[in-house]
Amino acid sequence: MQTFGANKGEYLLETRSAQEIWEAALGELQIQVNKSNYHTWLHKTIALDFQDNLFVIGVPNTFVAEFLEKNQRALIQKVLTGLLHEEIQVQFKVDTAAQNPANPARREKAVSPHQMSLPLFNPKYTFDSFVKGNCNNLAFAAARKVAENPGQSYNPLFIYGGSGLGKTHLLQAIGRAAQENKNNVLYVSAEHYTNDLMTAIRERSTEDFCNKYRTVDVLLVDDVQFFGGKEQTGENFFHTFDELYNANHQIAITCDCPPKSISTLPDRLRSRFEWGLATEIQPPDFATRLAILQEKTKQQSFKITTDILELIAAQVQQNIRALEGSLNRVIAYARLIGAEPTPETATHALRDIAGSTPKSLPITPNLIIQTVANSFQLTPDELIGKVRDKETILARRIAMHLIREETNCTLSQIGQELGGRDAAAITKGCQRIAGDIDASPYLKRKISDIQQKLHQNKA
Ligand code: ADP
Ligand code: MG
Repeated sequence: MQTFGANKGEYLLETRSAQEIWEAALGELQIQVNKSNYHTWLHKTIALDFQDNLFVIGVPNTFVAEFLEKNQRALIQKVLTGLLHEEIQVQFKVDTAAQNPANPARREKAVSPHQMSLPLFNPKYTFDSFVKGNCNNLAFAAARKVAENPGQSYNPLFIYGGSGLGKTHLLQAIGRAAQENKNNVLYVSAEHYTNDLMTAIRERSTEDFCNKYRTVDVLLVDDVQFFGGKEQTGENFFHTFDELYNANHQIAITCDCPPKSISTLPDRLRSRFEWGLATEIQPPDFATRLAILQEKTKQQSFKITTDILELIAAQVQQNIRALEGSLNRVIAYARLIGAEPTPETATHALRDIAGSTPKSLPITPNLIIQTVANSFQLTPDELIGKVRDKETILARRIAMHLIREETNCTLSQIGQELGGRDAAAITKGCQRIAGDIDASPYLKRKISDIQQKLHQNKA
């Protein structure tokens, strides 16, 4: 394992602009000040410069500058100091780019030419704030172990599951904890890795690219399904993987599906993803959803009673991001009417969500099975049954594909919905249909017609 002596943050991580640092700081400030204060005083601020421990913040007018100077300077300095691991002074400066947040010049103006390094982990994504339940126990335990002993336990750690279930949260928690243990950590999305590689190739700086990615103690790559079908990146990542792995450095990865289901990934990379531990995060059960809501309300100034949290937990089942969204909605509504939430106002706030898409029912596996069966003149029972004529198999595979695309069901849940098939059969079916869709414009159109029906709920 490499150690880099006393210099904590500096060696780690990605290069970040002043504006990106400021955005991370704003994320933290949003938690620390109340919402209306945030909107009035901080919302429109931008980063203008960062040099020699002085952070210059652009504000829309002198009124805001004076208020922040008087009331928020200490807090802002504290947040920036926490993020940057060094004592930071701030200065507020009126700047026209801060007057209109939509101004395209804003970002350019804001990005400082002085690039610097910053641990860019979301401060909210820690092990402590991650709620454990049957759905994620194993992934959580493995993530902790990896953070404590990088390269020594599960390598790679491969965490997979549907959208909004906490993969990024866990991956960043690993990063933060490993970094606190003085490891050299790099966190990137697979998309960022790909773009970085393309830039390196274009600018003939692949040596720098390799130095950046292949020397860290812990490499964390989020959403590797993005590598699917990208031959050059896949090949490159294969070599990055090997170099880190052979040096006993840790690799942790997230993905929306198990390694074997990532379409068109080089086989040798796919098999490496299976070398360590592949662990699934499943949708949370009711008790876990409730516990998550309780954790999230800790950060709120509003008091929300358990019966209201139960109401939300009962309504949103598949996606924790949506669960948080509903909670925020209930809180926002209560703020709007200026009273603490009651079951009635909460129901009203949540009904408003449904009301924003008035005609559509939620797209469930059952609705998909029904709609696909209809369009093939089959009954749902035939579709999920054992008959193996060509047409029924096609309909079945389309249903698998659509349940995967349109819901957050895991592969094993899809198998259950489709007559108790196992996850491997679903993976295989989805791969076949993906190939067929690529090869046949007819099939592509048929599927998009079915999707349209689904969204209009004309099953
Ligand atoms: P994914 O990367 O799987 O799409 P995220 O990690 O972005 O999902 O999680 C979505 C949101 O749900 C985040 O705000 C995250 O903090 C929250 N979340 C997910 N799982 C948990 C959990 N077990 N405990 C607390 N918060 C969670
Ligand atoms: Mg994610």
